[in-house]
Amino acid sequence: MKRVIIIGGGVTGLGAAFKIRRAAQAGHEVEFVLVEKDSRLGGKLVTEVVEDPETGGQFVVDGGSDAFITEKPGVHRIAKLLGIFEDETPTCDENKKTLIVKKRKLIELPDGIMMFAPTKILPMATTSLYSWPAKFRMALDLFLPRKERWAEGETAQQHDESLESFVVRRMGRESLDRLAEPLVGGVHASDPALMSLAATFPSLLEMEQQYGSLVRGFLAQRKKVEAIKKRYPLKPGAKRRTFFTSFLKGMQFFTDRIADAAGRDQIRTGVSAAPLRRTDDGGWEVELDNGEVLSGDAVIVATEGWAAANLVAQVEPGIAELLGQIPFSSSATVPMAFRAEDCPFDTRFFGILCPLVEGRPVMAVTMSSSKWPDRAPAGRVLLRGFVGGPRNQEVMEKSDDELIEIVRQQLVEILGVKAEAKPLFARVFRWTDGMPQYTMGHLDRIDEVEARTAAIPGLALAGGSYRGVGIPNCLESGERAVSKVLGEFGMVLEEDSAQEQRIY
Ligand SMILES: Cc1cc2nc3c(=O)[nH]c(=O)nc-3n(C[C@H](O)[C@H](O)[C@H](O)COP(=O)(O)OP(=O)(O)OC[C@H]3O[C@@H](n4cnc5c(N)ncnc54)[C@H](O)[C@@H]3O)c2cc1C
Repeated sequence: MKRVIIIGGGVTGLGAAFKIRRAAQAGHEVEFVLVEKDSRLGGKLVTEVVEDPETGGQFVVDGGSDAFITEKPGVHRIAKLLGIFEDETPTCDENKKTLIVKKRKLIELPDGIMMFAPTKILPMATTSLYSWPAKFRMALDLFLPRKERWAEGETAQQHDESLESFVVRRMGRESLDRLAEPLVGGVHASDPALMSLAATFPSLLEMEQQYGSLVRGFLAQRKKVEAIKKRYPLKPGAKRRTFFTSFLKGMQFFTDRIADAAGRDQIRTGVSAAPLRRTDDGGWEVELDNGEVLSGDAVIVATEGWAAANLVAQVEPGIAELLGQIPFSSSATVPMAFRAEDCPFDTRFFGILCPLVEGRPVMAVTMSSSKWPDRAPAGRVLLRGFVGGPRNQEVMEKSDDELIEIVRQQLVEILGVKAEAKPLFARVFRWTDGMPQYTMGHLDRIDEVEARTAAIPGLALAGGSYRGVGIPNCLESGERAVSKVLGEFGMVLEEDSAQEQRIY
């Protein structure tokens, strides 16, 4: 029997554990033991059910991730294997509206904007989000030449560029400041001047190559999507698919069900792993902070990159050094609920973006009770402020009470929540060093990390610090790690993955 030690009980580590369990069920002689330093599993997926202090109704509050992207199959595939596909929920698209803060006003994202590129003339002409010079500058995208022509077979990685440089070059500074920074940079809580496009949105660089213009590229993409929708209309009774999806009971429901299916008897929480050691016979030892020593034939490190650097430092200092070059930023989500009568404005929108140029202490606000069904009891409004990010790390020094007051005050100023209204409840979820920054050269560093890891039998690294922070990317990364170590044991999993593909 081969034993794999998994360190980290976020979605990556749990997804890896579930794959090993499936391999065992398929007849392979393999088992796992997973260690998680927190008392709770799920990592950045955390859901709290909060009782309404007045009515006894329930709020479903996500403190970390609140959604996954539907177009990437990872979550659906696992949800189907777990029998929880029906527990997924689309967004309430009747409320689909994004508002952007400009001075003291909220401006609706103009129709036809794809990411930050306009694809419809009239909404752009009439929006007050941009100045007229900025609108003309954005239109120049149609005429500006490519920065360079890539040679045959070259990829975005060889022509990396920061988000800031790319957007300013193609569409002008105002396009970056008003939308690309809060929307595209915001997804990664990243500094646009440092954020690598090749590592985050390579399709933007590829689009410039293919179409010579982002507007033309997004128009072509829109046509393609419309054609697919026409060709494959939703079957009667079929579930609506929206860009973002969640789970009715919150995102932690997903990791909890994976843990159940993987086998909780193999999972230890509240214990932290110390740096890995190799044994003379090629095996692995992991000492826990309770003094116990785990032995295994392989180790999957599914922690944040900075924690992984520490864990592998003795085994391969080169990997630790490369991982140490990935910066991380801290942020916090601050959900709070109000009585509907304390929110005398139209609550039918998904969220608000606060561009950095506005100089506000919040990056974004999600209107959770309008974006998702059943997040709040009737007559209640559930909002979630997002603070921190690379250019506002100082705010993380504030106490929880101060953060709650900062967000409440912003909701009063930006949205018009009644100044005297007290939240029914408020929470603070801190994500210290929680967001890896995919800075320029990130993919080259990860290539090198992977090459070095490939040379060490029985070691695999996985998680959001490497090739995508999104939950589907993390699941894939964990499964790739399992394929590496099981492959080294001579266990072939093709059948397993073929079966998974069929199920999806
Ligand atoms: C505020 C926020 C909002 C986000 N929103 C979204 C979203 O809406 N959609 C989306 O797709 N993605 C979102 N993301 C990104 C996504 O949530 C993460 O990339 C993903 O959850 C990372 O999963 P992971 O398992 O790789 O890492 P983690 O969830 O960080 O799990 C790693 C685990 O390793 C444990 N660990 C570390 N060191 C040790 C040790 N020595 N011993 C034992 N255990 C250890 C940690 O305690 C942790 O639980 C968001 C991230 C944040 C911070």
